Amino acid sequence: MDEVVALEPEARTVTVDAGVTYGRLCPHLHSKGFALHNLASLPHISIAGACSTATHGSGEKNGNLATAVSALEIVTAGGEVVKLSRQQDGEAFLGAVVGLGSLGVITKITLDIQPAFMMRQYVYENLPLTEVKDHFDAIQSSGYSVSLFTDWQNQRISEVWIKSRVEEGQAFDATPEFFGAKRATKNLHPIAEISAENCTEQMGVPGPWYERLPHFRMGFTPSAGKELQSEYFVPRQHAVEAILAVERLRDQVSPHLMISEIRTIAADNLWLSPCYEQPCITIHFTWNQDWPAVRKLLPVIEKELAPFKARPHWGKLFTMSPTELKSIYKRLPDFIQLSKKYDPHGKFRNEFLSTNVFSS
Ligand SMILES: Cc1cc2nc3c(=O)[nH]c(=O)nc-3n(C[C@H](O)[C@H](O)[C@H](O)COP(=O)(O)OP(=O)(O)OC[C@H]3O[C@@H](n4cnc5c(N)ncnc54)[C@H](O)[C@@H]3O)c2cc1C
Repeated sequence: MDEVVALEPEARTVTVDAGVTYGRLCPHLHSKGFALHNLASLPHISIAGACSTATHGSGEKNGNLATAVSALEIVTAGGEVVKLSRQQDGEAFLGAVVGLGSLGVITKITLDIQPAFMMRQYVYENLPLTEVKDHFDAIQSSGYSVSLFTDWQNQRISEVWIKSRVEEGQAFDATPEFFGAKRATKNLHPIAEISAENCTEQMGVPGPWYERLPHFRMGFTPSAGKELQSEYFVPRQHAVEAILAVERLRDQVSPHLMISEIRTIAADNLWLSPCYEQPCITIHFTWNQDWPAVRKLLPVIEKELAPFKARPHWGKLFTMSPTELKSIYKRLPDFIQLSKKYDPHGKFRNEFLSTNVFSS
C-alpha cells in the first residue's frame, strides 16, 4: 500500500496509502510544489506508523507529524471501513490519530500540505551547557528546527543542528560563533565517530525541505543502525531544569549511551500525543544494544524526570508503570472507550497495548 492517492492543491491536502514512507512521498510532493510542515530525523518510516506513535521532529512552532493528519480511513475489527476527519468527527478524530494501532488497520491517511520551501542547515560544535541554561529559548528559536546533541560529558552540547528556511525574515545568520559554539567546517554525524555520508547536507548549502529537515538520508543507514532508543517529553516550562537533572546522571548514563538529542515540539490536541495541550522539549537517548543495562537505567532517569510529569515516546523503550502512564495521559480512559467502539473484542491488541493502555 504505497501509492500517493490524491494531491488536492485547492484543499491543500494529500491522501496516501498508509504504507507510504516519507522518503517516497516527499520528493513527489516537492515536485508538485508542496511540502509537509515537518519531518522526523529519518525519512525511512511509514506515515501510518509515524503518526500512530506521535513521531516528531523539532521546532518551537511545529507540532508533531500527526498534527498534519486531517483524515483517516480505517478497517475495523469487524471489517467495516470507517472514515474519520478533523472537519466532521471532532473529538473521535482527535482520539484516533495517535491510535497505536488499536482502532484497526489504517488504510489511507490525508495530510495537510503547504507550498514547498527551501532550507539551509548549519552545525555548531561545543556549545557550553551554561549557555543552554541561560539562553535556552533564544537557542531553540534560532531556526525553524533546532536539535542539540550531547553525550552529557564535559558540560557541553557537542553539536547544535540549526535548520532554517531561506526566506527573508526566517533565514539564520550563520555567524562563526553561536553562544560560544563554533561553526563546523565539514558535514558531521550526530555520533562523531560515524561518517557524515549518511547525513543530510549541512554547511549552509540550500536544498529542499525534505532533504534538510531529517538528519539522515533516504537510502543510507539512519543513526547508528544497531541501537536502542528512549525518549521523554518534558513540559516546555521545565526544559532547563530537566536537562540539568539528566546531566547530573551523566556518570550512570554515559557508559551505555551513543548520543542524546534535545528538541522542541509545539502543543497539540491529539489525545495520546505526549504534547497534548502542552508544548514540550524532548530528551532522547540512543543506547548501545544492551537491554539489561538500559532496563536498569531507565527507571533512574524516569524518577529524575517524574517531578516534571515527563511522558515517554510510545515508539521507544520505557519502564513506567501503567498507573504512571494513566496519571500523565489524562485522555487514556477516553481512548480506551474509543478503541472499544471500533475493536470491541480486542482483536488488534498486543502485549504492549494490553499492558500499557488497556490494563489501566
Ligand atoms: C533511526 C531511528 C530514528 C528515529 N527518529 C525519530 C525521530 O526523529 N522522532 C521520533 O519521534 N521518532 C523517531 N524514531 C522512532 C520512530 O519514528 C517510531 O518508532 C515510528 O513508529 C516508526 O515508524 P514505522 O512506520 O517504522 O513504525 P512501525 O513499527 O511500522 O509502526 C509503529 C506502530 O504504528 C502502528 N501502525 C503502523 N502502521 C499502521 C497501520 N497501517 N494501521 C494502524 N496502525 C499502524 C502500529 O501500532 C505499529 O506498532 C526513530 C526510530 C529510528 C529507528
